[in-house]
Amino acid sequence: MIQSVEKILDYELLFREPEYQAIFRNKKENFEFNHSEEAVKRAVEWTTTEDYKQKNFARESLTINPAKACQPLGAVYVANGFHKTLPFVHGSQGCVAYYRSHFSRHFKEPTSCVSSSMTEDAAVFGGLNNMVDGLSNAYSLYRPEMIAVSTTCMAEVIGDDLDAFIKNSKQKGSVPEDYDVPFAHTPAFVGSHVTGYDNALLGILKHFWDGKAGTTEPLARMPDDSVNFIGGFDGFVVGNMKEIRRIFELFGVTVNVICDPSGTWNTPTDGEFRMYEGGTTKEEVERALNARATFVFQQYCCEKTSKFIAEHGQEVVILNAPVGVAGTDDFLMEISRVTGKPIPTELEKERGQLVDAIADSQAILHGKRYALYGDPDQMLGYTRFLLELGAEPAHVLATNGNDDWAAKVQALFDASPYGVECKVYPKRDLWHLRSLLFTEPVDFLIGNTYGKYLERDTKTPLVRLIFPIFDRHHYHRYPTWGYAGALRLLVTLLDEHFEALDVNTIAVSKTDYGYDIVR
Ligand code: SF4
Repeated sequence: MIQSVEKILDYELLFREPEYQAIFRNKKENFEFNHSEEAVKRAVEWTTTEDYKQKNFARESLTINPAKACQPLGAVYVANGFHKTLPFVHGSQGCVAYYRSHFSRHFKEPTSCVSSSMTEDAAVFGGLNNMVDGLSNAYSLYRPEMIAVSTTCMAEVIGDDLDAFIKNSKQKGSVPEDYDVPFAHTPAFVGSHVTGYDNALLGILKHFWDGKAGTTEPLARMPDDSVNFIGGFDGFVVGNMKEIRRIFELFGVTVNVICDPSGTWNTPTDGEFRMYEGGTTKEEVERALNARATFVFQQYCCEKTSKFIAEHGQEVVILNAPVGVAGTDDFLMEISRVTGKPIPTELEKERGQLVDAIADSQAILHGKRYALYGDPDQMLGYTRFLLELGAEPAHVLATNGNDDWAAKVQALFDASPYGVECKVYPKRDLWHLRSLLFTEPVDFLIGNTYGKYLERDTKTPLVRLIFPIFDRHHYHRYPTWGYAGALRLLVTLLDEHFEALDVNTIAVSKTDYGYDIVR
């Protein structure tokens, strides 16, 4: 018996037991028929060379490990940001299992989302029946106040028309005629999760502001003194939304946060299961039309939404995930400009404390080289912060970044003496980054959990600051935005540095001249 009541082993140790080792050996020798170990070693070594890098970067028709997800993931994120709203994805069930598990693994919270469960017959005849039954079941079983519909590849390839399908479903009595079912087509084979975020948010604003798919009169704008805030797709939303609300409260400004899933992904354990928690209410969405301005924290998550809001008469302040000292300064000064209110003294003090902390640790991070990958706006924010610390963001990569984004990153490099040796890589993937880490090594890698394979291959320590983070817990509960968030980012970068230094100097009487108590 390998596992018994007397001797229960965790999986880390269990598979080292001789019985398991024998199974693995047998499988390898008699079933896998691999190339010889020398041949594999030779091939692996070749992938670390400049020659391989040239071939890797010449690749055109293949993507390997893209640093992005598909559109509906962003749409499901958005739906979770609205009060008592059920995300409904028209398409296949497996896709929806992926969105649910992705969010649940990252936030360590259940994530509700239903699918219309399209299968072969729907692929041939269209998914109208699935929509009719799906809406009816979702409405009856889960009692949401709103159902936000998006699509997977399958529905888009067939060409299902959501507007017509939802109207048809209402006529057939799936949900009441005046029930709110905003929708967005989110074809997964173009764009990424940030495009899906944009499409879904636009779908909800259009629904409420422009007359509910032609069934009511469009709302009339009656300007007031409030402002709107849209955060964009953010893996740290639980900590960040709390921080954003605190900042606006300190200013004494009424803010309508449009799309706030921080409640959904932060429910307490107190004996009551909450399928829905927090989120932007319908009334808040409607009121948001009257705001004097909308702060869009992540430009590339909200390109169509920003245009739509501007067309409805509001100023739209577009930012690129501004973090760190200068980034937060910009954000606060824009709030001050738009609202006419001074920057609160409490925030000024926090700024000074952050600058003090940076100065304390400046010698540590100065000159360190980083590779980073993730969503376009986050890359702009982190690049700027690293340069501010005197570090070098040597490789900045976004699979879903375009040429316009690359020009913005390059402008940040050009404005800093630490940016001289740095390069930006739009539309590249993690296999490209692997080549770069071998041929032009860096000290640290900033990315998500998937970066741990790059860490293992290239021995570059990974700092987890990008969604999704599955293999560490609770990072999302702390902010990365505002001065408080910048402090958290600083500590995270420092922790990884000290951790790596301890590992590299731990050998007794060999390297422990650097294994210091005081750092
Ligand atoms: S890419 Fe298409 S098939 Fe894959 S999860 Fe997204 S919607 Fe589903």
